Amino acid sequence: MEMTETIRIHKTNHSTLADVDWSNLEFGKYNADHMLVCDFLNGAWESPKIIPFANLSLSPVTLSLHYGQTIFEGMKAFRMIDKRISIFRPEKHYERFVRSAERMCMEVIPREIFMEGLHELIKLDGAWVPSAAGSALYIRPFIIATEAKLGVKISEAYKFLIVSGPVGSLYQKPISVKVETKFVRASRGGTGCAKCGGNYGAAFYPTKKAREQGYDQVLWTDGKENKYIEESGTMNAMFVIDNKLVSPPSSDSILDGVTRDSFITLAKQEGITVEERPVSIDELKRSFRDNTITEAFGVGTAAVATQIKLIGIDNVHYNLPTKKESIAELLKAKLDGIRTGKIPDVNNWNKLLI
Ligand SMILES: *Cc1c(COP(=O)(O)O)cnc(C)c1O
Repeated sequence: MEMTETIRIHKTNHSTLADVDWSNLEFGKYNADHMLVCDFLNGAWESPKIIPFANLSLSPVTLSLHYGQTIFEGMKAFRMIDKRISIFRPEKHYERFVRSAERMCMEVIPREIFMEGLHELIKLDGAWVPSAAGSALYIRPFIIATEAKLGVKISEAYKFLIVSGPVGSLYQKPISVKVETKFVRASRGGTGCAKCGGNYGAAFYPTKKAREQGYDQVLWTDGKENKYIEESGTMNAMFVIDNKLVSPPSSDSILDGVTRDSFITLAKQEGITVEERPVSIDELKRSFRDNTITEAFGVGTAAVATQIKLIGIDNVHYNLPTKKESIAELLKAKLDGIRTGKIPDVNNWNKLLI
């Protein structure tokens, strides 16, 4: 589909930019001034518009509120050292957004609307892209089913939106995780590969239970045998075993993370051996016994990499060293250097705003 019209822009008269405490950018606290909105009605996507950030008005019987047809993406724009703004790997996020839409039987947003909308929105809200080390503008594209009908059905109307907000360097203290073998996040043939709202709502209860037991997060296991590690909370799981970077492969129950893909690409370019293969609980136990495991961490757009300091398996605690010189830190620093223009972007990941 071709964009036949340019995007209509209605600028705000009430910018909230001056209210931002740039020294304390708590994740999700601030919303940038504008949002992109595009409706799918009567079998077609209408032309997108950029309007001031505002509440939506929805019928109480809007389908997405009842039956969960909602999908989202999470990506970031960075302020480079030469002050330009770049969006990190938007194509890869778009492709996953399409796969999520297909899995949830929702209308696919055309590439042109997504890309041009993203570009125009971030250009307009460019002053919201922070420049402190590790900070970024977090961007949240999403689609909700908007048909107003109480019957269980595939919606015939959708709303695509993009909102954004500045976030600080989400340095997280090393976390302790519980290997979860009772509850599952996703199963074979399920929706684990889609970034759909229901996956997150369903993960809250087991995560809360793990917190009550003193852990920060859960390491999910497979839905069939509960033997293999799948993800670390809402991040992809990585381990360093025998000096190799090991990560469970993307599947229909493991989300295909952009950060995971970037870490794997960078690791290979650094000459680190990478193995994308299943990691069993037994292998983890063995690697602790033999002292061959040196790192475990989660990777995702929001926090980039979160070190794991303790893994609980059947109430037995296995500790990991939390040294500063790690493969996780090396790859995180590389990624950060590329995104801010300090290191050449040989993989062509930065999409510069023009
Ligand atoms: C978003 C997400 C990730 C990380 O994906 P990125 O593209 O790296 O942000 C991993 N696992 C789950 C379940 C997610 O929702």
